[in-house]
Amino acid sequence: MKTLGLIGGMSWESSAVYYDLINKKVRKELGGHHSCDSILLTVDFAEIVKLQHEGDWKTLDAMMAKAALQLEKAGAEIIVLCTNTMHLCTPAIKEAINVPFLHIAEATALAIKQKGLKKVALLGTKFTMEKEFYKDYIAQNFGIEVIIPNLEERDEVHRIIYNELVQGEIKEESKEIYKNIISILESNGAEGVILGCTEIPLLIKAEDVNIPIFDTTTIHAEMAVEWALKK
Ligand code: GLU
Repeated sequence: MKTLGLIGGMSWESSAVYYDLINKKVRKELGGHHSCDSILLTVDFAEIVKLQHEGDWKTLDAMMAKAALQLEKAGAEIIVLCTNTMHLCTPAIKEAINVPFLHIAEATALAIKQKGLKKVALLGTKFTMEKEFYKDYIAQNFGIEVIIPNLEERDEVHRIIYNELVQGEIKEESKEIYKNIISILESNGAEGVILGCTEIPLLIKAEDVNIPIFDTTTIHAEMAVEWALKK
């Protein structure tokens, strides 16, 4: 088994889910007392949130590159960044390391392709929904159309992530807001919905909506284990 290097803390609410998922999957695949050979690095999320909202992606690039390199130096053989948003820093991370980097949007797009869907909706932070690094990555590399909510709805989705989900607050009224937005996207032609923020799966489950969900936390964590176990 290869050693996974997890860049976590964004937020730790979802890093804890990653940790649980990777260990459970290794136990399922290898049985017995096996667990996932891994190193988890946790950053201070307060600093990250501040820089994101100031638009200082240069400093964030440097921080993510440093974290990835620290993991590589500590023995990680595959780097896994446990957040969708911070994949904006992918070029800087890849430049800094010599080991493979498992892109969350690649893992997600492969899962969508497997289901044969052509048009999906994307929910996530405003950075993920509005910037090109995620939607365009999926559209250009996988030929899947990605649609997003309108501005007012994006503001709501973003607010609930930063004010509630990353703080571990799961509210029924927020679940209803997300369900409504997903049903609007469904009526706009979405055949599935990407839960493109690693905390959204804490709020929305498959049974809450009519279309297939793509839980990026689970998809990413499981593919990381597949990579780690590949001969
Ligand atoms: N975990 C979230 C994501 O997947 C948002 C927190 C962050 O800004 O990294 O995008």
